[in-house]
Amino acid sequence: MMNAKVHELLNQQINKEFYSAYLYLQFSNYFDDAGLDGFANWYLIQAQEERDHAMLFFKYLQNENQKITLEAIDKPEADITCHMDVLKAGLKHEEYVTSLINDIYAAAYEVKDFRTMQFLDWFVKEQGEEETNANDLITKMELFGSDPKSLYMLNQELATRIYNAPSLVI
Ligand code: MG
Repeated sequence: MMNAKVHELLNQQINKEFYSAYLYLQFSNYFDDAGLDGFANWYLIQAQEERDHAMLFFKYLQNENQKITLEAIDKPEADITCHMDVLKAGLKHEEYVTSLINDIYAAAYEVKDFRTMQFLDWFVKEQGEEETNANDLITKMELFGSDPKSLYMLNQELATRIYNAPSLVI
């Protein structure tokens, strides 16, 4: 039997990951409106990845024969007045998601739920990459964002990002 707290946190994470997808769709749409299709592409792929994450938690609970309760997804909230606000909100959000993953891990560790810990290992690594990506984007924007030509080139670079399904198979 899965521990009740671990179960609850894993179930909540399905919702949190779908919320992440929603938030990144909003970011993608912000950049689409601004005419920066590369940035819009980057966040659209980010949204696809978050949906994948949600499905991994969903499948894990199904595989473990645990009850799944789907809750309403909150309206995405981010205070955006400029391009940089989006990038910073992205980093802040990833740091928050890292804390959520860590909380589930801590709960699993406490009750010696090694299977859940092993499942979460992939997400621990993934969150490190997410934070690095979000930080790199802020650095590039700080360096190149104020010059239209450089911003155009950065936009072209982000347009090349392609969607890859997650490497975790459960
Ligand atoms: Mg995620």
